[in-house]
Amino acid sequence: MINETHDLKLQSWVESANRPGCDFPIQNLPLGVFRTQTDSRPRTGVAIGDFVLGLEPWLSGETLNGYLALPATQRRDLRRELSKALAKGSPKRDLIAQAECKMMLPALIGDYTDFYASIEHATNVGRMFRPDNPLLPNYKHVPIAYHGRSSSIVVSGTEVRRPLGQLGEGRFGASKELDYEVELGAFIGPGNVMGEPIPIHRAEQHIAGVCLLNDWSARDIQRWEYQPLGPFLGKNFATSISPWMVTVEALEPFRVSPAEHDPSPPPYLQTVGPASFDITLEVWLRSSSMAQPMLVSQGSFKDMYWTLAQMVAHHTSNGCPLRPGDLIGSGTVSGPQKRNRGCLLEQTWRGAEPLLLPNGETRLFLEDGDEVVLRGDCVRNGFARIGLGACGGRVLPAISYNQGID
Ligand code: CA
Repeated sequence: MINETHDLKLQSWVESANRPGCDFPIQNLPLGVFRTQTDSRPRTGVAIGDFVLGLEPWLSGETLNGYLALPATQRRDLRRELSKALAKGSPKRDLIAQAECKMMLPALIGDYTDFYASIEHATNVGRMFRPDNPLLPNYKHVPIAYHGRSSSIVVSGTEVRRPLGQLGEGRFGASKELDYEVELGAFIGPGNVMGEPIPIHRAEQHIAGVCLLNDWSARDIQRWEYQPLGPFLGKNFATSISPWMVTVEALEPFRVSPAEHDPSPPPYLQTVGPASFDITLEVWLRSSSMAQPMLVSQGSFKDMYWTLAQMVAHHTSNGCPLRPGDLIGSGTVSGPQKRNRGCLLEQTWRGAEPLLLPNGETRLFLEDGDEVVLRGDCVRNGFARIGLGACGGRVLPAISYNQGID
């Protein structure tokens, strides 16, 4: 529901929030957890311009889990109150500069599930490995996913070590095919009782907000291990997320109708109306010898085949309980154009089209020292642009074989 908190004319007494191009204008109000050099205690806060406002007057706790457990109506009320408190004319409050904040994971993430909701990604990857039969016959009927690992989810800025693993028969060592995947992450709000599915028409009330997510992937490990049970060590060594959770309330103006479903999905997955969101997601890459990052790809969440609500309805359709703070990954966000391809495997078409960097280097996969930064935003005429901030991580060399495996 669009309301006064989305008004384009709304301005904040925090001047940096009114600057064009700012990720965090007063229409955004994303929530996160931070600490400072002088105060190591984790605190919840809302980003406004270049600053953070502590949420102590409204919310207690060192994570957003308490907030996530609130019913959607109370989350909406809090947004209204924050909007009022930060609007021009309201009394000024103490702020902390974002530059002085060390951001932490926004929630204690109990479980993490990674979907595969981009039909373009599934078709591209399928085409590389099964040219005659790129899209598996179940794809348009069932939202495909696997259970990921929450213990290796890290916040933006955390360095990611190249994993060791089995690369084929008799071969163990550092992955040579380290890749990123640009995804939208979604935090689960209120959960469901085990045994009781969340119906599709209520599924959105169980999604509290979104973030950027990089599903780091070791393609050589993945290729050797993934049959018959799916991804394991090729994926679970690291997943990076951005620190600011953009609430679903902030996303309201950017609703769009999802991709056409043909054939119709089963009734428990059928949605009507603008059930998807137009969120642009970008991948930037900087090698250790580059001063500035280069834009590698740009896609939109609106091109995904399955919506977040469909993922939640499907996930709980067998009675599986979701809990506040659980994280869902959308799957690599790719689109129909080459510039929409959301991982290096697709971008280089499995090595056939190397990526050329502006300094003359080329990439088939990530090298040590490479930094991958995801960015995202929502833009629509008549509304303020809102940003998702950034999700960055640099690749560290693999641990030496003898240190790692004794
Ligand atoms: Ca993935």
